[in-house]
Amino acid sequence: QAKDAGRNAIRFFNPAMQAAIDARIAMENALRQALVLGQFQLHYQPQVDATGWHTGAEALIRWSDPVRGMVPPDRFIPLAEETGLIIEIGQWVLDTACAQLAQWATDPARQNLQISVNVSARQFHQSDFVERVRRSLAASGANPARLMLELTESIVIDRVDEVIDRMEQLNVVGVKFSLDDFGTGYSSLSCLKRLPLDEVKIDRSFVRDLVDDSNDAAIVQAILAMSHSLGLRVVAEGVETLAQRDFLLTRGCETFQGYLFGKPAPIAQWAGSGHSRGVARVSPLEA
Ligand code: C2E
Ligand code: MG
Ligand code: MG
Ligand code: MG
Repeated sequence: QAKDAGRNAIRFFNPAMQAAIDARIAMENALRQALVLGQFQLHYQPQVDATGWHTGAEALIRWSDPVRGMVPPDRFIPLAEETGLIIEIGQWVLDTACAQLAQWATDPARQNLQISVNVSARQFHQSDFVERVRRSLAASGANPARLMLELTESIVIDRVDEVIDRMEQLNVVGVKFSLDDFGTGYSSLSCLKRLPLDEVKIDRSFVRDLVDDSNDAAIVQAILAMSHSLGLRVVAEGVETLAQRDFLLTRGCETFQGYLFGKPAPIAQWAGSGHSRGVARVSPLEA
């Protein structure tokens, strides 16, 4: 028996596994330092309405690490969630986005733009989340009505009543909510029905093959019909082609986001308000 345990122990600490553990610890330490060292940046991806007019932007975090280069959020947000570092990182994102809103408010060409901020489950479930959002808005002077918080279904899976209560408290000050990656989870329908949402984002996975795949087309049409009958605006993510955009437009989708209209970019490269170059070639109501 001792021999079995010994064998297991040896198998557990094989070099590949040890290397993976070391890499994870190194990444966690680097992530911990990243805030202090100012290695995070927000990129902004435009959202446009049916005529191609900018309505706002989604803030998307970027981490440039001297060793790892640009680390995409899908590679560090989950680790930040597990370790709890997401609390501080999420606060930085919120503060930075609110500061940006306050700056836009002084520019007549941009004062109506809104910013969407992704909120992670652990961040939303902190006991003082509502207070933190209020404080961030107050400290920056940003107009709460220009802030949209993007939630995913994973946030809502448990403690639904508490989630609704928090959303309502923030609704009172003017903050709005969007349900991100809609259709990819298990509780999509009950979320739509129960939560005080303003907006639903159709997940990119349904938009990708929309034009060729009749199942995806049917799902997208159902999401649009259902959302609209519940009084929710719909944003399509990952719109890359005119064909996708025209399909969505003719079926009543209000807002579009994707490479067709602009990739996420630092604020210095923000095109400003006006029409997106992606739509200049299109007459919006052709169909
Ligand atoms: P998401 O919130 O669903 O963001 C949309 C993702 O789709 C972004 O990836 C964006 O760059 C990408 N995208 C947008 N349009 C297109 C397109 O036309 N084609 C393609 N191929 N991709 C497109 P990104 O920036 O890598 O972010 C990935 C995810 O990381 C986000 O998904 C979000 O869940 C998370 N994330 C990003 N920033 C934050 C943040 O500040 N806080 C939290 N908690 N999560 C974040
Ligand atoms: Mg999002
Ligand atoms: Mg999304
Ligand atoms: Mg997504």
